Amino acid sequence: MNKKLLILPLIAILGFQACKNKPNQSSQSEDNTAIKLVSPDFNADSAYAYVKAQVDFGPRVPGTVAHQKCAEYLVSKLKSFGAIVKIQGEKTQTYDGKTFQLKNILASFNPENKTRVLISAHWDARPFSDQDTNPANQNKPFDAANDGGSGVGVILEMARQIQQKTPNVGIDFVLWDLEDYGKANDETPDEITWCLGSQFWAKNAIATGYKAAFGINLDMVGGGNAQFTQDEISRQSAPEVVNRVWDIGNEIGYSSYFVRIPSGKIVDDHFWMNKAGVPSIDIIHYNDNTGFYINWHTQLDNLANIDKNTLKATGQTVLETIYREK
Ligand SMILES: [Zn+2]
Repeated sequence: MNKKLLILPLIAILGFQACKNKPNQSSQSEDNTAIKLVSPDFNADSAYAYVKAQVDFGPRVPGTVAHQKCAEYLVSKLKSFGAIVKIQGEKTQTYDGKTFQLKNILASFNPENKTRVLISAHWDARPFSDQDTNPANQNKPFDAANDGGSGVGVILEMARQIQQKTPNVGIDFVLWDLEDYGKANDETPDEITWCLGSQFWAKNAIATGYKAAFGINLDMVGGGNAQFTQDEISRQSAPEVVNRVWDIGNEIGYSSYFVRIPSGKIVDDHFWMNKAGVPSIDIIHYNDNTGFYINWHTQLDNLANIDKNTLKATGQTVLETIYREK
């Protein structure tokens, strides 16, 4: 994910927080004792094990053996859960002039169901830890446990649950490749050096007439003390989806994660999902005041800094959203 410094008047944000956040602060306890869920219980230990399995391959940087091996692992896992799995892509050039075989991984459940929900995350790892405070580290790859691994881990656990209990809607999971190989401080209007996998998918989706009721992209959903704010693209392109997901997150006990705080424009994969006509939101650890997840694009984005509570909050909220669809 690229960083744009997003400037909103501070007073306006604080004012919004002050009036919007209070009703949710103490209305729910974080244990789910009194809460009735229609979704199966999302197992955070299982999601964590799927994050670890990815990290164990090493950084899944495009063009490496770790990337290839991890693709095989993800395909076989998703097939084992009963999904119909396809790899989509073409030779794709990155901003630094290198060429890679793009591999988006598409996994569908109940393809005959006309009402579809799209859930996505990127599975590639950024090749450089350019935000690391130590300049000697800035050209090194990193484990990408949160920035990539967490969203995929949550998706694998959701797929495992869907195999056991079929929701009313068909589910399309897409794991994006080449999301995180962008140019730092990309000045192009749509930051087109990033999100190469979802850009390719969007072109294809438009050409084939792909339709889904809505989409949810997961990015950095496993860090400690995560706060998911509501970014401008999500609010403008899919306001009802933002409200539904944040309402459910708050209702089922995760109000500290799903904060009703607006944030600026983030060009993540949901931007391209919206371009393809699927009203889509981003669940991302980001806040205009503090920026992205604290270990974003550094050597410290590793397994030790993954928090199962955040995986649980994300996974249960998204699962509950899916199972409430009629
Ligand atoms: Zn990133």
